[in-house]
Amino acid sequence: MLETLEIKTTSPAETERLAGIFAKNIFPGLVFALSGDLGAGKTTFVRALVHATGNQEIVNSPTFTLLNVYGKNPKFYHFDLYRLSALEDLENIGAEELIPATDGITCIEWAERIPEIMPENYLQVSINSLDENSRLFVLKTIGKTIELERIKKQWLS
Ligand code: ADP
Ligand code: MG
Repeated sequence: MLETLEIKTTSPAETERLAGIFAKNIFPGLVFALSGDLGAGKTTFVRALVHATGNQEIVNSPTFTLLNVYGKNPKFYHFDLYRLSALEDLENIGAEELIPATDGITCIEWAERIPEIMPENYLQVSINSLDENSRLFVLKTIGKTIELERIKKQWLS
């Protein structure tokens, strides 16, 4: 089983294509843990993922609210923990029930800030800026999650 995969995108449009491939392979309970500097492309990836499933809602980083919820079939729970100061703030919004969620897909920007409540199974998406328009996506499966072999095949086809 393929546990890590590196994919380089050279434009936001290519990152959208990658997210579109993920959109075909998602299922309720799936968790994406996104990391990378400000401007790496975490929100760009989540936005494209949500839009690729037919939800046309506005997707922005929920920096001040910690959580945005979009769509149905599937539903998305979008966290941004950049400004998280205490785990308690997450508990107050019932985050533990949503990581993972029974009825939707969870995307967490800055997930590395909450190692203590990360679940057993998730997909780690680390995004590295190479230059203005190029990004290296380092994908890593933790436990049982999306099959990276399928993502690789679809990316190359
Ligand atoms: P983050 O959520 O990680 O802070 P954003 O997604 O908000 O980052 O911003 C990423 C910025 O980088 C956007 O302005 C986007 O247009 C730009 N960008 C340039 N090249 C890429 C690429 N290959 N993939 C994703 N975003 C890119
Ligand atoms: Mg963001």
